[in-house]
Amino acid sequence: MRRGPEKKNTEGRLGPQRSAAYGWFVGKSYTVSARLLAHYRRTARDLPWRRTHDPYKVLVSEVMLQQTQASRVTPAFDRFVRRFPTLKALAAAPLGAVLREWSGLGYNRRARDLHRIARMSPRGVPEAVAELDALPGIGAYTAGAIACFAFGRRVPFADVNIKRVLGRVYLGRVATEREAVAIDAREMPTRSVDLWHHALMDLGATICKPAPRCDACPLNADCHFARGHAGPAATALRGAAGGSLGRGARQREAQRSAAGRHQDQALRPAAFKDTDRRVRGAIVRALVETERGMTVRALQKKIGDGRVGRLVKTLTADGLVESAGRRVRLPS
Ligand code: SF4
Repeated sequence: MRRGPEKKNTEGRLGPQRSAAYGWFVGKSYTVSARLLAHYRRTARDLPWRRTHDPYKVLVSEVMLQQTQASRVTPAFDRFVRRFPTLKALAAAPLGAVLREWSGLGYNRRARDLHRIARMSPRGVPEAVAELDALPGIGAYTAGAIACFAFGRRVPFADVNIKRVLGRVYLGRVATEREAVAIDAREMPTRSVDLWHHALMDLGATICKPAPRCDACPLNADCHFARGHAGPAATALRGAAGGSLGRGARQREAQRSAAGRHQDQALRPAAFKDTDRRVRGAIVRALVETERGMTVRALQKKIGDGRVGRLVKTLTADGLVESAGRRVRLPS
């Protein structure tokens, strides 16, 4: 077994290091993990939730990141954990206060679920994946990520970036979730599993994007996709990433993707401005601004959408709004 150089326990770019040595693990793809982690050490995005293993802060960050980009989550995360520094503080707060602090992130059910988790976990965030998975709003990916990042558990999981990176490297195409989790279980190092997953996600967010930049990628030499061992869906992308498709092949790929675009447009869901989600968000935002609450009629006038009355009822059923006489307000 080869032992790598000792790494300092630094706060900052890589966060507190759970394991001291990157080179500790030996596996079938030693070069992949070694290259990936060396690249991460040089380029890691400095994100506040990576500077801690506090299970509560990891939980908050993972819930926020479920449907929101890291750049938008960063300031919201800092504000939220300043206002509610512990799970206990969150449990003690009224849901209305939590929703006020959540304002701007959208998908308010996440705030409600986080608040429920705080109230149902007096002994703290559970460590076991099965217990995490059973919490409201927590699915397989989030449970795995919390177990890994907070408790150092060697748990395989895959988000959209991990599916793309592991799929392309080992299969030559984007993997399904099941495939990516199986590859992750097989290939993740024995140690530094938190850094391994952060590194995969960073690579997927910065280089191995839907249109990959293979020329700049540390895994280029190991990657099935980059070497051309991929199916037709991967071929067009590889060409865009600097591959060498012939002219005829390029034309065929262009025709295929144009047909796909038209199909996408036909199937595209309603624009955001037309969705109930936008109106529900507008109702909660309007109520954030007032402690006393508003009548449905006043809300209707402010938002200017005929669905307000119906959606106030659904928000009430979801526990995000409560009635107070003739008014509705955020839960006290
Ligand atoms: S070589 Fe290209 S396809 Fe492979 S992991 Fe890197 S960016 Fe992704």
